[in-house]
Amino acid sequence: MSLNENYQRVKEEIYAATVACGRSPADVHLIAVSKTHPVAQVDALAALGQVDFGENRIAELVEKKNATLAKNIRWHLIGQLQTNKVKLLPQGVILHTLDRVSLADKLAQHFATNPNGESGVDVLIQVNCSGEENKSGVHPDALDALCEYVAQKSAIRVRGLMTMAEHTDEEKTIRKAFAHLRSLSENIAAQKFFLTYENILSMGMSGDFKIAIQEGATHVRIGSAIFGSR
Ligand SMILES: *Cc1c(COP(=O)(O)O)cnc(C)c1O
Repeated sequence: MSLNENYQRVKEEIYAATVACGRSPADVHLIAVSKTHPVAQVDALAALGQVDFGENRIAELVEKKNATLAKNIRWHLIGQLQTNKVKLLPQGVILHTLDRVSLADKLAQHFATNPNGESGVDVLIQVNCSGEENKSGVHPDALDALCEYVAQKSAIRVRGLMTMAEHTDEEKTIRKAFAHLRSLSENIAAQKFFLTYENILSMGMSGDFKIAIQEGATHVRIGSAIFGSR
């Protein structure tokens, strides 16, 4: 399968899953996860019209962001960010993995004093909905407290939530995690923690994006189904 064929198939599958559950195609966005694949693949996909790209590691994101020939790409950092690497996060990149106070502190500090005169950072809060011990993300019980804290940081624009489901064949388990994220998001919206909140739900990957769409995903993060295996 060529990149173009994979891309068209994934888009068709997203479209079909979206309309099948009565949602509007305009409400579900595809983030193409290009990690480990060369920047030429990013250029090729951007030439086919793809705008949103995701990377797992900050160094790889910065490298591809600087090397790509494509204009107008919107970059998403979907992997963990160490506090000592916050300074590497370029202005305009959307961070999906805010999950702790120490990271919020560093983000607020760095993006309040951006030398270009621009300021602020768009983020999603990552929640550990699967209950796996070694997964990153804030525990659902600690989410409200983190939101209260982050709400005091005007440089941080929280726009939604992100989660990763457990790697399992059990659809019920996956669905439960996604449904949980959605209900947490509705709760945050109702409490009006953030003026910038827009109920973004970043959930669903190559293996589980159809379930995620059924459970309300607004952004699916898809790598291998587009670019091939890593
Ligand atoms: C790699 C990755 C993806 C994409 O995974 P695929 O299974 O290749 O679609 C999505 N989200 C995160 C956080 C990732 O690290």
